[in-house]
Amino acid sequence: MEIKNTDFINNKSNSLIPPFEGGRANITFLGTGTSTGVPQLGCKCPVCRSASPKDKRLRNSALVTVDDKRFLIDAGPDLRQQLITNDIFHVTAILLTHEHYDHVGGLDDVRPLGETNIYAEANVLEAIERNMPYCFGVIKYPGVPKMNLHKVDMNPFQIQGVNIIPIRAMHARLPVLGFRIGKLAYLTDVKSIDNTELDKLRGLKVLVINALRKEEHISHLSLSEAIAIAQHVNAENTYFTHISHHLGKHEDVSAELPENIHLAYDNLSINF
Ligand SMILES: [Zn+2]
Ligand SMILES: [Zn+2]
Ligand SMILES: [Zn+2]
Repeated sequence: MEIKNTDFINNKSNSLIPPFEGGRANITFLGTGTSTGVPQLGCKCPVCRSASPKDKRLRNSALVTVDDKRFLIDAGPDLRQQLITNDIFHVTAILLTHEHYDHVGGLDDVRPLGETNIYAEANVLEAIERNMPYCFGVIKYPGVPKMNLHKVDMNPFQIQGVNIIPIRAMHARLPVLGFRIGKLAYLTDVKSIDNTELDKLRGLKVLVINALRKEEHISHLSLSEAIAIAQHVNAENTYFTHISHHLGKHEDVSAELPENIHLAYDNLSINF
């Protein structure tokens, strides 16, 4: 496997606000569900039986656009369906938060998109190479996805002129990455995050962070834990994602949330 070094910037991240003030920037939530999705297979609870489209949650993914650049964050097992629904047939890069299947299980589906540039930490790239050996052998099976793997660390990096600031968080004991792009930060599968990393989230228009359910969980933020982080960061608006059927119906939970804090839902699109 060839892992390319990214075009790193040496600036300290706190002072680095990407230069697209006045440009077009948008996030579309492609999937807002936890690893099982909602409805969960075989479940007959009121959330899984809800007729509301806002209670249908595919596995976690989002498309962030900055002018004509398109960044896919995570590529879970529902990716093909998500790309078709949203007419996405080209991406500038794929950013991966971590190697769990609900975030990388759709990578094979990028084949028709042509050569794809994937940015992630070394352990995530190694997991992809291990799980998809047919894509990285010397003699490749015909038609396999062409994936260029780019290793990132905690330094800010740039993709086609767009600055991206990695944010470290912990998913129980597994380190995961979030990404700040301009006035948006996207974090998922977080259980805890240090204050030094929270400092990188000042001045956000949009914070996206995971909120699994009301009860505590060993590796994901609960609703009240996510609200506490949202209120500390104090972005103009916060959207919760990676949601379990245990959280409740979109409409009911939304009515209980503080001002400026919302549940995301599949295909929601926001400018930032
Ligand atoms: Zn996950
Ligand atoms: Zn259910
Ligand atoms: Zn995970």
